[in-house]
Parts: sequence; structure tokens; C-alpha cells
Amino acid sequence: MNARQQEVRENIKALRESLPGSVRLVAVSKFNPPELIEAAYAEGQRLFGESHAQELSAKAAQLPGDIEWHFIGHLQTNKVKQVVPLAACIESVDSARLLREIDRRAAAIGKVMPCLLQFHIAREETKFGFSYAECEELLRSEEFASMRNVSIAGVMGMASITDDSEQILSEFASLRDIFDRLKSEFFASSPAFKEISMGMTHDYPFAIRQGATLIRVGTLIFGERSY
Ligand SMILES: *Cc1c(COP(=O)(O)O)cnc(C)c1O
Repeated sequence: MNARQQEVRENIKALRESLPGSVRLVAVSKFNPPELIEAAYAEGQRLFGESHAQELSAKAAQLPGDIEWHFIGHLQTNKVKQVVPLAACIESVDSARLLREIDRRAAAIGKVMPCLLQFHIAREETKFGFSYAECEELLRSEEFASMRNVSIAGVMGMASITDDSEQILSEFASLRDIFDRLKSEFFASSPAFKEISMGMTHDYPFAIRQGATLIRVGTLIFGERSY
């Protein structure tokens, strides 16, 4: 192990030990090389997050097969075919059109693809995601009822980039409220619907306070990314 790998091991060990048992860590490895993923793997980490189809393909091909990859980036429909066979979960489903394509590509390889619905909870305009009304429309549609190859496992969101902790807490609370509403309206009899994915390096402790079941942390583990 080189010095950077050693650092990653120490970082992820400390982070894992600090998390409550109800929270699973998605180690966000995008833009970081396989050798650093191997360092985290050596510490027992099996769940990693990637946000580009090409990069996921390249890494999945050369890293151990028991890694669980979560796709967390904005996914274009023309990349779905590449991602579906490799991902254990697509966390960033932000349109009906995307979900339709995932269903189609999963059906073609006989897979049921676990997906999270991404919501727009930040004040910033730049982030992707459903509004509650859009999502409701999708979940009520006949088309959704006919999808056999997607399994909706919960919700995902990103808070605003701000130092205002009250705002971050309230944005995460809004995602938890969305989860609760969807659970009672649409998924009351679906145990698979259980995940709230929220919280990154700068705000994950707030997300845990608001009920996150998955946190997606990169920089704290791997250091600053070089793009
Ligand atoms: C990059 C990324 C993260 C991790 O961000 P850090 O600040 O490095 O922890 C989490 N979620 C999504 C969707 C990302 O794109």
C-alpha cells in the first residue's frame, strides 16, 4: 500500500466506525483510480458510487465482482444499456422517460433493477430531480403499473451548497417527508421501498439526523478529486 492508499484506509475506517448501524455508506469513487477503491475495499467497504457510465464500466471490469455499484449521476437514456447490467442500484432516476428506458433495458437482460427516485430539494435551480407532483403523476400512470423490471427502493436528493445548517436540515427533512408520503400513498405494502439517500462530505451528519439510510461520501474518503 502506498501513502495515498494508506490514507484512504484510515479515512474510511474512521468514517465507518462513526456511523450508526442504520446508515450504509456509499463510498463515492468517481474520478478516483482503482487503486484507491482497492484500499477502501481492503478495509471492508463493498458499496461504491459512480456517476459516469464509461467510468463505471472500466472500473467494474477490473475490480472485484462482489462490489456493489450504485449509479448516482445524471443518466442519459443512451447510456442506460451500459449501466443496467453493472449497477446494483440506480439512485438518480429523475424522469419518467429514464425509468421507462431502464425498465426496457432491464427486461432485455432479465433483471429487475432497483432504483431510487431523485427529488429536487435544493433551492438551487441547477440540480436534477422530480417534484412531488411530477412523481405522483408517474406513479399513478398505467405505464408505471406495467413496468415489471424496475423496483422502486426509495428516494435520493441533494441539499443546497450552503453554510446555513438550518437550510440544509430543512431540505433533508423535506426529502424524508417525501419518503413518508410516498410510502403511505404508493408503497405501504412494499418492503423494498426503504431507502433515503442523502448527505455528502460537507453535510452528511445533518442527513443522518434527518433519517438518511444511505449517505454518499467521496471527498472525505478519497481526498479532493482531480478532474
Ligand atoms: C460526487 C457526488 C457525491 C459525493 O460528493 P463529496 O462531496 O465528494 O462527498 C455524492 N452524491 C452525488 C450525487 C455526487 O455526484
